[in-house]
Amino acid sequence: MNRKYRKTIIAGNWKMNKTPAETKAFIDELKGKLGKQRWCDVVLCVPFVDIPAAVRAARDAKVAIAAQNMHWEKSGAFTGEVSAEMLKELGVKFVVIGHSERRQYFAETNETVNLKVKAALENGLRPIICVGESLEEREADITAELITTQVKIALRDIEADQMRKIVFAYEPIWAIGTGKTATAEQAGEICGLIRSVIRAKYGARVARSVTIQYGGSMNPKNAEELLAQLDVDGGLIGGASLKVDDFISIINASNQ
Ligand code: PEP
Repeated sequence: MNRKYRKTIIAGNWKMNKTPAETKAFIDELKGKLGKQRWCDVVLCVPFVDIPAAVRAARDAKVAIAAQNMHWEKSGAFTGEVSAEMLKELGVKFVVIGHSERRQYFAETNETVNLKVKAALENGLRPIICVGESLEEREADITAELITTQVKIALRDIEADQMRKIVFAYEPIWAIGTGKTATAEQAGEICGLIRSVIRAKYGARVARSVTIQYGGSMNPKNAEELLAQLDVDGGLIGGASLKVDDFISIINASNQ
């Protein structure tokens, strides 16, 4: 973390978990246990149907609500899809774009990620752009090349003054939901690489202002070490964000 230049953001990604009633119960409990969040912003990425309940429950807390996906078009014949404008009207502040599960199971590509990033920004939503390599890609020693391509395409046609709205999440696919965590050094190295790609395009001032999270089996035990890396400005947390106490422990780790 480097709090002098950028915000630390701890975001829970619930994936396809929790009903609206469970969402309300979780946020009510979270509010009761959340201390003064002096150092980090807290975000909950909830399923679409939970958004109204989440926004309502989080209204009097410093917790922002995020969607886990969106379509890039404004409206039209896209059965089952949801637009940025719809999310915005519900009070959503962030949207996860290009999560590896969406790339893997729902055919998202670097190009659709870019379309979604642009649509999110046009509608005042902050994209959390996920990038990461598979185990095969890491073993083939193409991680740096692959991440560089993912970042460059995600940022196509994005102006420097839009960059302060963007968050990146480095999520090695082999570490998501597997219990395997990247070492703090591996996480720091790739978050640093993402920042260097941003620096090459927009310059040092913009690059140092962008929040870059790590995600992949982050939990109360490993969070402090991961967050101690200079270029790791927070976490995108799946499994450990489903239990209030675990999520709070990670938030507290970012307050060290
Ligand atoms: C995620 O869903 O983005 C994630 C990192 O999951 P987990 O923490 O469970 O590995």
